[in-house]
Amino acid sequence: ALKQNYLPKLVSGEWTGTMNLTEPDAGSDLAAIKARATPEGDHYRITGQKIFITWGDHQMTENIVHLVLARLPDAPAGVKGISLFIVPKFLLDEQGNPAQLNDVSCVSLEHKLGIHGSPTCVMSFGDNGGAVGYIVGEPHQGLSYMFTMMNHARQSVGLQGVAISERSYQLAVQYAKDRLQGTRKDGSRFPIIEFPDVRRMLMQMKASIEAMRGLAYVAAAETDRVHSATDTSQAKHHQDRVDLLTPIVKGWITEVAQELTYLGVQVHGGMGFIEETGAAQHYRDARILTIYEGTTGIQALDLVGRKTLMNKGTVLSALLDEIAQVQQELAASSALQNESRALDTALTAAHEALQWLLDNAEKDASVAGSISVNFMMMMGYVCGGWVMGQSALKAQALLNAGQGDSAFLHSKLITSAFYCDHLLPRATGLLAVIKAGSQSVMSLPNDQF
Ligand SMILES: Cc1cc2nc3c(=O)[nH]c(=O)nc-3n(C[C@H](O)[C@H](O)[C@H](O)COP(=O)(O)OP(=O)(O)OC[C@H]3O[C@@H](n4cnc5c(N)ncnc54)[C@H](O)[C@@H]3O)c2cc1C
Repeated sequence: ALKQNYLPKLVSGEWTGTMNLTEPDAGSDLAAIKARATPEGDHYRITGQKIFITWGDHQMTENIVHLVLARLPDAPAGVKGISLFIVPKFLLDEQGNPAQLNDVSCVSLEHKLGIHGSPTCVMSFGDNGGAVGYIVGEPHQGLSYMFTMMNHARQSVGLQGVAISERSYQLAVQYAKDRLQGTRKDGSRFPIIEFPDVRRMLMQMKASIEAMRGLAYVAAAETDRVHSATDTSQAKHHQDRVDLLTPIVKGWITEVAQELTYLGVQVHGGMGFIEETGAAQHYRDARILTIYEGTTGIQALDLVGRKTLMNKGTVLSALLDEIAQVQQELAASSALQNESRALDTALTAAHEALQWLLDNAEKDASVAGSISVNFMMMMGYVCGGWVMGQSALKAQALLNAGQGDSAFLHSKLITSAFYCDHLLPRATGLLAVIKAGSQSVMSLPNDQF
């Protein structure tokens, strides 16, 4: 009945939905959720406060379907005692149309650094006796149900990182072509895109975005392959890959988006700091991406813990083996020796980092948390090298065959060469940081900060 009543209008966009997880004392640590659900006939009464709720209230649609995490009276402590409820803004009449206002309201709006087009609400449930809510599925399974959505949302936030970076790049390219600063010997002026350092910034943006976009597509395709798999072992292989890539897509792409939107401002010089160019908006809007749907720290712990240590590194090893096949193909192409060497070096570093993690995580409880973000960033750069390597192979093959748009294909080759020269070597630098372990991270006493 819940599906019939709510899904068609959510899917058609006639109504919008929200995810109500976060509370003042429960952010990354959802085990601390306090919102309560008390049974009453065929429904529940929900009470509690939620903060930071995206599109928690608005007048754009006739109804808003809140998905709320709350605890039943007999719930066990921690994450195993959280249930999921549908709490509509307007309760439905017998025809399924929005009717009576439920006991839920937006009590204030957050004033934010960016994303001003997206209202972020403090929501209060049950100020007048309890909001009517309907349990979704089984009691105490709420967090795992929510994760179905969150894993999808994590990939989507990665894609937001690609999108904002791309917009920032487009603006920067336009400005760099228009802005005259250099003077030639004949006195004529030339645009800043001709300065090597400006080109370095634009190439970094372009190459990173191509790698990020490619990786986001690879992860999305793996999700599709899970659904179209014809046997369970095939489905498991693709699901393992989705699980592994999701924190990298969310974590690495959104962290790189910070650097790229920073460069977008930098290319504009002083005008980047002035609102009218629009460059600063991308910088500000990108800032949320490493925070919501699980911070970078949480993504990195997921990658290192659940996705790597829990299976003794087998899933990551299988990915590195697949990347090595691309490296072999590059090695066999005389035009792509540079790319082959760069990917080989990065892969060697990645194997060494994985082995170091497997050897050291159990000896010292702080190791995984101390190295996790650097480990995730390294795997991101290596996956980027994998995608760019494939791009180069494809472009070279088409050029060899005399097919396609040769200017476009040459630009693909130059962009992947730049990625291999300027971004892939970061993997080797990160290896040294990873192998430094937890010592200097953890030894300073709290009162020395
Ligand atoms: C604009 C915006 C929109 C949002 N939309 C929604 C929404 O629609 N629905 C919703 O439910 N929530 C939403 N959120 C909340 C968001 O998901 C949380 O802010 C986020 O999960 C982080 O929680 P927190 O703010 O409590 O930070 P904290 O958990 O307090 O984290 C603070 C710092 O500590 C680190 N940290 C915390 N725990 C660990 C750990 N175990 N290991 C290592 N590091 C750790 C974090 O990485 C971070 O650097 C939104 C937030 C914002 C700002």
